[in-house]
Amino acid sequence: MLNALRIGGHLILGRTHLWQYYTNVTWRTCEECLARHGRIAPRPNSFPDPQDGCERKLLRFPVWELAAYREKARLMRKLAQEELWRRKAFREATELLATRPAEAVRLFDRAGGVDVYIPELERLAAEQRELLAQRPELRARLRQVFLRRWSEKFTKPRYERLPERMRQARERWGEARIKELFPEG
Ligand SMILES: [Zn+2]
Repeated sequence: MLNALRIGGHLILGRTHLWQYYTNVTWRTCEECLARHGRIAPRPNSFPDPQDGCERKLLRFPVWELAAYREKARLMRKLAQEELWRRKAFREATELLATRPAEAVRLFDRAGGVDVYIPELERLAAEQRELLAQRPELRARLRQVFLRRWSEKFTKPRYERLPERMRQARERWGEARIKELFPEG
């Protein structure tokens, strides 16, 4: 009912189409663009064009499909919020690694349940090089957690769009990289 009123309101103002802001949610999407992910506005120029390196797409849709696009917006906001939570958890885990390693591993695991990004693991391995060199058992735990979460990443709907061969190649590439970054022995 509320959606019907909203649609009516737009139509009265002569609007037949609306616009939805889309960004690609990754580890490096800035917080401003994440906050705009899914927002709906009457005109494309209602949105800023930050040209800050984050992906930006404005999707035009008919006013009468507003209910479906508001539902999409809700899911997009959720994804953006999960990414913000994931970054915080990953940062906290990094800070805990030297002093409370078991807790750190658990937190890396939960962050990895949202997503895993190889550039972040590369930075982690570089920053913690000394600690990890002395702690083979910690390296092994991290390797195990990151490999499992990395493999899960490719079963998620957003990666199902990739052609099968590309998906497999990317998965294998990441696996090899994780094993390099957190070596055995
Ligand atoms: Zn941005």
